[in-house]
Amino acid sequence: MAKLTGAAIMARALKDQGVEYMFGIVGVPVEPIANEVQKVGIKFYGCRNEQTASYAAGAVGYLTGRPGAALVVSGPGVVHGLAGLSNAKENCWPMVLIGGASPVKQNAMGAFQEERQVLIATPFCKFAHAVELPERIPFYVEMAVRTSIYGRPGACYLDMPDDIILGEAEEDAVQFPTRCAEPPRMTAPEEYIQQALNLLESAQRPLVIVGKGMAWSRAEDEVRAFIERTQLPFLASPMGKGVVDDNHPLSVGAARSLALQEADVIVLMGARLNWMLHFGSVPRFNKNVRIVQLDISPESISQNLPTEVALVGDGKAIVGQMNKALEDRQWFYPKEAPWHSAIAEKSSANAKQVQTMIEDDSAPSNYFRAFRDISPWIPDDAIIISEGAKTMDIGRTQMPNKYARQRLDAGTYGAMGLGMGFVLAAAAVHPDRPIVSVSGDSAIGFSGMEMETVCRFKMPVKIIVLNNGGIGSGVAALPDNPLEALPAHLTVAARYDKMMEAFGGKGFFVTDPKDLKAALDAAMAFDGPALVNVQLHHAAGKKPQQFNWYT
Ligand code: ADP
Ligand code: MG
Repeated sequence: MAKLTGAAIMARALKDQGVEYMFGIVGVPVEPIANEVQKVGIKFYGCRNEQTASYAAGAVGYLTGRPGAALVVSGPGVVHGLAGLSNAKENCWPMVLIGGASPVKQNAMGAFQEERQVLIATPFCKFAHAVELPERIPFYVEMAVRTSIYGRPGACYLDMPDDIILGEAEEDAVQFPTRCAEPPRMTAPEEYIQQALNLLESAQRPLVIVGKGMAWSRAEDEVRAFIERTQLPFLASPMGKGVVDDNHPLSVGAARSLALQEADVIVLMGARLNWMLHFGSVPRFNKNVRIVQLDISPESISQNLPTEVALVGDGKAIVGQMNKALEDRQWFYPKEAPWHSAIAEKSSANAKQVQTMIEDDSAPSNYFRAFRDISPWIPDDAIIISEGAKTMDIGRTQMPNKYARQRLDAGTYGAMGLGMGFVLAAAAVHPDRPIVSVSGDSAIGFSGMEMETVCRFKMPVKIIVLNNGGIGSGVAALPDNPLEALPAHLTVAARYDKMMEAFGGKGFFVTDPKDLKAALDAAMAFDGPALVNVQLHHAAGKKPQQFNWYT
């Protein structure tokens, strides 16, 4: 009778469960798994650092609805892979990290790269387990995939000891569960839907907050219909951007602080009142604000502020319910409400504040001036990756998103160095769409070596580096003694474009913003990976924030 190795069983089980993409670095003991997954048609992307591989796996999960897999070697490989695991946990993205492990028969003997991997992965995981028999691999894979996408999505970890990977099982003794179904779309009790709409009807200054839970649940059609039917102003979270077009007239993105501060009824959809929304606390929020909260996770209801109407279940299903219930109501939020004009006034006042920076053509460029050319150059259907401190913050306001799941950024965990992983994920999942990454010079440094990966896989991605020569703020020139530089300082005008060229891509170095547009166009016209390195003025700042002390 035919025998199957643990590696072959793992590959088939992953394929059966709809895992299509794996990122990783091979070595002892996991190389056979990578070889086997290629045989069953899973695309394997060899990376240069396990961090990137694990970041990519999480982003694949968010983009596709099925977890991406990351494959890492034992010990240090797993430790590096924890980066993406924790990021996936915090952002509620599905992924499966598969860690090689030292052989079971050497447990506690001081084996090569022996580590308590299930233990260290557990705090980041919905499910973490060691596989103890080759024939049980499909059971664990189905469990990990299902757990990663059901309920609040998240990360799972499977520990694969060397002797399980190389071990064998009789083919007949292995049961492969069928592909686990898409996550069930739970609805809310009809009376809660009515309560939510009643509360909205009573509001003077209502606001809908759209988070990435709505993007994940593919609720874009329902949310857009809801906004247009009710005429309610909405605010998108950073990755909730694009669920409804950022340029929609009801978007309050340009008057965010005012909208949060004054709203008296908020519908929180697939977003948490965590640090990104200032915990829902005064003075960022109105002290009498009343909350309708839609979330798949009952445990997150009332986090930081009491929720008045809890809509627990799937975003797409529940907004669909609300739309249906609205068919029996005449009500919509009046177009002439003073709340609309207050938001509009604040938006144009905010726009004026940055206008001088946008128009400032002096060299080297400031952030806003750079985005003046970058934003219109980005194709409508591009996946936009954004990381860096100021680069990401300013980019969030200057690069609009038209579609859901179009933006990947540092997200809930605020991690730096994940951009190249997201670039790989986006290029793998959407080979037919433009991939644009706008990164700070510090951020690109964390995983810049993945430029070799994008060149090796001939991914035609376009990377912009907004290079101010530092973490956060930069410096005009470094002191002769580098030990006298501030800890935040990096090399001034470092040539990241040459790194891209070194691996076969195309690089452009822009020192005067008058040359930026031509460089961007040439990068886009180039049929391969390209990097546009834009030198920024070291003091390029952003507009003063009203609540700097609170962010
Ligand atoms: P953002 O960063 O955009 O504010 P968060 O990551 O804070 O978003 O919140 C996303 C929320 O979406 C989480 O609380 C998560 O439980 C929720 N969520 C995940 N899947 C769904 C779903 N299918 N329907 C509704 N909410 C969901
Ligand atoms: Mg910088």
